[in-house]
Amino acid sequence: MAAGWRTYTGRFAPSPTGPLHAGSVVAALASWLDARSHGAKARWLVRMEDLDGQRCVPGAAEHILRQLVALGLLADEPPAYQSQRLELYRVALAGLQAGGLAYPCGCSRADIQAALALQGVTRHRHGERVYPGTCRTGLQGRAKLAWRLRCDALAPPGTITHWTDRRLGAQQQDVAAAVGDFVLLRSDNIYSYQLAVVVDDAAQGVSHVVRGADLADNTARQILLHKALGLPQPHYLHTPLVCDAHGEKLSKQNGACAMDDAAPLVALNAAAAHLGLPTQGGSLADALSAWVRAWTALYNPCL
Ligand code: GLU
Repeated sequence: MAAGWRTYTGRFAPSPTGPLHAGSVVAALASWLDARSHGAKARWLVRMEDLDGQRCVPGAAEHILRQLVALGLLADEPPAYQSQRLELYRVALAGLQAGGLAYPCGCSRADIQAALALQGVTRHRHGERVYPGTCRTGLQGRAKLAWRLRCDALAPPGTITHWTDRRLGAQQQDVAAAVGDFVLLRSDNIYSYQLAVVVDDAAQGVSHVVRGADLADNTARQILLHKALGLPQPHYLHTPLVCDAHGEKLSKQNGACAMDDAAPLVALNAAAAHLGLPTQGGSLADALSAWVRAWTALYNPCL
């Protein structure tokens, strides 16, 4: 168990931008199996990441909750909604501001692009821009648009953040070089995914994060934030991504088909196969029990 945690707590944290699809069923099943393989006291929670009202689809959260019930993936507590937890994020950001670990930024996308062009940077990894640090020394007359984490106050430039993923093994990232001072409160006044996820995982006592590999790249940023906020760091396991025929990650944005709610065992078998678990027939309950045993043997052989 990670330092600071007494009881295993896992979570599934979907963004309610549409119903579950083959990719999100994998994340839901893997996080549930990991919790269930940690014994009767382990908790598995569901958290709706619904901070960005523009991206959320009305009714999607309720649909996801119904799908989880149909899949037999039952949470140990009522679901949490990030949109109802804004005070927690406000307090966390205020703490960072008071400690000099966050600074206001007045850069628009165009400002960032122009500053990077001046530095001769024209190509960006995955279309992401490394923030050039323009407002680190003050707003210079610009109006405040966002708040960013001051990475160099946490770790000197060149510091590599190391972590071990339970499936991917040793991982590392130089956060300052890879993404720069990242956003905590967006210019549209929405708390960033990074801040909210770290605050919530700690507030909910999450000891083990199990989620899709597309999010692995965020982990080093989240570890820096755990340090900045003095919070314990959970264990991480990133599941293999489900891709479409063109090798693109399946997502609601690229039109992934919703899970067939009438055939939960079919959806579970597809997700299980993706996780390297054997096909199961029979009842849903028997299939889930068999997968808990198989998951334990694969990922938690010492339990
Ligand atoms: N809400 C994120 C998503 O749906 C997952 C966040 C997480 O598991 O850390 O992709």
